[in-house]
Amino acid sequence: MNLFSITSLIIFLSSIGFGLSVYATDRKSKTNRRWLAFSALISLWSLGLFGVTSASDALSALRWQYLLDVSAIFMPVVYFGFVSELVKVKNFYWRAGSYVLAAILAVFSFTPYFKTGMISRYSFYWIEPGSLYIVFPIFFVAYIIACLVLYIRAYVKSTDRMFRAQIRNIFLASLIGFGGGITNFLPQIINAYPFGNYFVLLYLFFMSYGVLKYKLLSAKMISAQLFAGATVLVFLFNLLQAGTMQARAIDFLLLILVVLFSVLLVRGVYKEVSQREKIQKLATDLQKANDRLTELDREKSEFVSFATHQLRSPLTAMKGYASMILDGDMGEMSKDVKQGVSRIYDSSNTLMNIVNDYLNITRIELGSMKYAFETIDLKTLIEDTIAELKPNIEKSGLAFSFKAEDRGIDWRVTADRDKLKQVIANLIDNSMKYTPSGSVAVTLCFDRADHKFVVTLKDTGIGIAREVLPHLFQKWSRAGNANKTNIKGTGLGLFVAKEMINAHNGTIRAESDGEGKGSTFIVELEPFGKI
Ligand code: ADP
Repeated sequence: MNLFSITSLIIFLSSIGFGLSVYATDRKSKTNRRWLAFSALISLWSLGLFGVTSASDALSALRWQYLLDVSAIFMPVVYFGFVSELVKVKNFYWRAGSYVLAAILAVFSFTPYFKTGMISRYSFYWIEPGSLYIVFPIFFVAYIIACLVLYIRAYVKSTDRMFRAQIRNIFLASLIGFGGGITNFLPQIINAYPFGNYFVLLYLFFMSYGVLKYKLLSAKMISAQLFAGATVLVFLFNLLQAGTMQARAIDFLLLILVVLFSVLLVRGVYKEVSQREKIQKLATDLQKANDRLTELDREKSEFVSFATHQLRSPLTAMKGYASMILDGDMGEMSKDVKQGVSRIYDSSNTLMNIVNDYLNITRIELGSMKYAFETIDLKTLIEDTIAELKPNIEKSGLAFSFKAEDRGIDWRVTADRDKLKQVIANLIDNSMKYTPSGSVAVTLCFDRADHKFVVTLKDTGIGIAREVLPHLFQKWSRAGNANKTNIKGTGLGLFVAKEMINAHNGTIRAESDGEGKGSTFIVELEPFGKI
């Protein structure tokens, strides 16, 4: 046993194991099949090398050498096929031609033009080249250059980062492997030691790392185990062959070290692989849960939207009839009945507002809120809104005022009439709801510096605590003092208002000096044209 035969044996076992494990992950993949064919050739070649370097006479070395040469001749051709498949190049005729060429060369390898026999060199048998032996290394190098061209072309063309990384790794691994393997030609050509043979082993390492890191996790595990197993086996074999006591002791020590190293290697790889798989599983689970939640959320919004829509028609009927009864359209009624119907009217009104808020929220969530923008006069819109709210304003008993800056300003804005009206009505409604006594003052002015219309609603009501202000426009946001004053609110009105004003490219904000100190709501909108 010498270093050459040990490495050959390791390469033999690891290569075929590695090829099979890659193949097992996806038997249908053409790349994997070609990779298996190539791995099998490497195995055959290393088996041949093992036979040659451990042969005791020239004749048995020669027999092994035939196996070695034939498998080596097919190696670059099969590798060319693998690379073509990997980079997705269709070159059937080229490959078919290559096989014919390789077959001719294989037959040729049995003639004395290729090798004249075996001679003992560097403590083992080595080939004695024939007169035309040089054709073989030339053939080998030519195919490696062809593969290199395929790699470079694919690398430059591709934009897929992962694919490029894979190509880079396989290319580097192959460079090491072939670069090392090629030194086996050296003794025949320039009579130098074939030092690179050990690199073929490294190639397996790099290959498993390079290919598998990006694709096949479990194959990584298998190849580590195979490699470790093969190494241990070789050292065990070495120990059994040791002649002297001293050699046995050294070999035994080496074996212990190798076993230790192998266990560490396999455990390390195992840990990494299982951790990665765990993380990957967690990530997919999380993604699934997330998708499900989004779906549920959408279904919920759709359901609420549907349900609230259905509630609207009976509510409109209730409100309409209550209003007709109150107006006396259904005849005279007693004071008690009037009071009762008036309550029905108020309650259905409140309910209608709530239903509308919910409907708006679901529309916002589903992204289906539609705006019909037109050019409207902001001042008129505010006046109309106030006119519609007149009965409520009068009922509140508050001092209500509206003032617009009067300098012949063109108050036109681009807006959705109904939505903007809804926002203004909501703000006026709020300032009355949250102002037990005092006044509500609405003003409209033009901010020349910022070129904006500013609607301000200032009340003398319950005010807003400093800590509540930043959250006021969020969904379901209701201040503690609001509950005491008006228990009917939902905390949705301002959220909807903000969404609507945002859609108008405007801003809405609230100011207050604190609880009991009144509040001011400010809406800013862009004028329609230059003022
Ligand atoms: P709701 O009035 O239905 O509760 P809104 O979204 O319209 O919902 O208002 C959210 C909260 O903002 C109210 O619950 C209240 O705490 C506060 N708020 C709104 N307007 C005023 C105001 N004019 N004065 C004091 N607090 C107000």
